[in-house]
Amino acid sequence: MEKIQFKAESKRLLEMMINSIYSQKEIFLRELISNASDAIDKIYYKALTDDTLTFEQGNYYIKVDADKENRTLKISDTGIGMTKEELEDHLGVIAKSGSLAFKKENEMKDGQDIIGQFGVGFYSSFMVADTVTVITKALGSDEAYKWESQGADGYTIDTHPKETVGTEIILKIKENTEDETYDEYLEEYRLQSIIKKYSDFIRYPIKMDVTERKPKEDSENEFEDIQEEKTINSMVPIWRKNKNELKDEDYENFYSEKHYGFDKPLKHIHISVDGAVRYNAILFIPEQIPFDYYSKEFEKGLELYSNGVLIMEKCADLLPDYFSFVKGMVDSEDLSLNISREILQQDRQLKLIAKNIKNKIKSQLQGLLKDDREKYKKFYESFGRQLKYGVYSDYGSHKDVLQNLLMFYSSKEKELVTLDEYVSRMPEDQKYIYYASGESHERIEKLPQTEIVAEKGYEILYFTDEVDEFAIRVLTNFKEKEFRSVSSGDLGIEVKESETDTESEEKDNKDLFEYMKTTLSGKVKDVRVSKRLKTHPVCLSTDGEVSIEMEKILKSMPNNQNIQAEKVLEINTNHEVFKSLQEAFETDKEKVNLYTNLLYNQALLIEGLPVNDPVEFTNDICKIMV
Ligand code: ADP
Ligand code: MG
Repeated sequence: MEKIQFKAESKRLLEMMINSIYSQKEIFLRELISNASDAIDKIYYKALTDDTLTFEQGNYYIKVDADKENRTLKISDTGIGMTKEELEDHLGVIAKSGSLAFKKENEMKDGQDIIGQFGVGFYSSFMVADTVTVITKALGSDEAYKWESQGADGYTIDTHPKETVGTEIILKIKENTEDETYDEYLEEYRLQSIIKKYSDFIRYPIKMDVTERKPKEDSENEFEDIQEEKTINSMVPIWRKNKNELKDEDYENFYSEKHYGFDKPLKHIHISVDGAVRYNAILFIPEQIPFDYYSKEFEKGLELYSNGVLIMEKCADLLPDYFSFVKGMVDSEDLSLNISREILQQDRQLKLIAKNIKNKIKSQLQGLLKDDREKYKKFYESFGRQLKYGVYSDYGSHKDVLQNLLMFYSSKEKELVTLDEYVSRMPEDQKYIYYASGESHERIEKLPQTEIVAEKGYEILYFTDEVDEFAIRVLTNFKEKEFRSVSSGDLGIEVKESETDTESEEKDNKDLFEYMKTTLSGKVKDVRVSKRLKTHPVCLSTDGEVSIEMEKILKSMPNNQNIQAEKVLEINTNHEVFKSLQEAFETDKEKVNLYTNLLYNQALLIEGLPVNDPVEFTNDICKIMV
């Protein structure tokens, strides 16, 4: 019988596929099962409009048979089958599967990873088989045919007896080589697990004869191997079920079956969208932070299914980074099985789904915040930091999505509050949203810089996460109220002493301040009269963009660029210590040096910064003790 050559492009792709080392050879089974399922679908849809046809669910199935002795693996279906023309058309040209059209000729020469990028459908069977035989009988046809190929050199077609409508694909599994074992594709257990992994939600039963060791009849200690036909796949995926029929427990089971996490999900989101884009999704917000969550190793992504068939285990494009903690899956009929990562990235449908999902997650989180604050706080303790990174990242372009989900510890409520709650409580004369940064709530509480704001009765947000201040700088304001650090130059608070008082005080003590500034040269930008201190003698504040907290964080970063805050030493002129300074300035300049250094180091310590020279500092203290 004459061999018919594959079309040129098919030939090249086939050769590449057979020779390339493809890490996931196992997907051939997914492809063949999907084709079988498609073929059954075709009968199903035909029956909807054709009165002479009835579709009896029980008659339609896919069967997988492994024959170790003959090294054959057979995938049969009771689908629509193929006519001779269809065999030639569909299995003679790879381009028909739609894959090839995407790659231009010259790009394909280095086609190393083309197989990795494309599910190449039927042809992927050549990755594991030397010979592929297709025996098929089309619906409504009297003749059946056999198509056979050993790969790139072409195929033969001939008539062949077959009683029933449908298709059998018989793979002659390759012999093991030094680097590759092919035996596994004849192992019951391995085949079952591949079917479970990729094809669990195919709508028709995928059957296999499964061997089980059972006690012999009339005997207790003698066993025999019994083969029994079993359905391997679970068929109806939970995401296609009606939400009303599902309990929390069902979702929790799904979460652990899918190994999304060892914890229980804090919340599940079941989405069924039937509009411009159609998809089902089940998403979870975990209760606990995955151990590697805030590390480089963590990979975000959702499982992506096309009509019940897994096409990607972690589709990163479906989740924005700020919601990277979300686990789950998406299934859409509108996505093609044969789709590459690159193409997926540009896929319009996928983009729509991603946008849709983002909005759903946002609104669900907002709902949780509103209806179950305790749960939301639990969530926020785990993943709030990620939301704040989200505000900061991409030049603040996500702030509108995220700002209403933010919470900070409040000096007044002594717990997490939202920005909206803060602003709605602001007294009329309060200009800004005040915040203070520090290591812990306890430390911030004691910061001298908070005194004046706290005395005014204004609420202060405590920033203890590294990212907090950076995020807020990007946000700049909330509901038109600007954020202001309690350590910033202008607090917008009317103090009892008027501006002129401060000014005249500064003028009166000009020489003293100048002297102190010289003593601290290189360490502070300025020495000033403080408008915010009540009981403490000194504190540090900053001019410019970089705060002291930010300096600390920037310093701890690997590519430390030595960015410094412009520090200002503020002096409480109402404090006893100031009088001592004034006296010393008249009589003993050495003493002014000593006091200045001590006060500066105190201010550093209050900020949680190390003193410049601890030995000198303790010596200085000793000097004033003797
Ligand atoms: P795709 O499924 O993307 O079309 P494939 O390479 O997997 O690409 O299959 C090519 C074509 O061969 C299918 O579109 C279908 O028409 C035909 N085909 C493959 N397997 C079967 C089968 N089991 N029954 C009927 N037709 C089949
Ligand atoms: Mg296919």
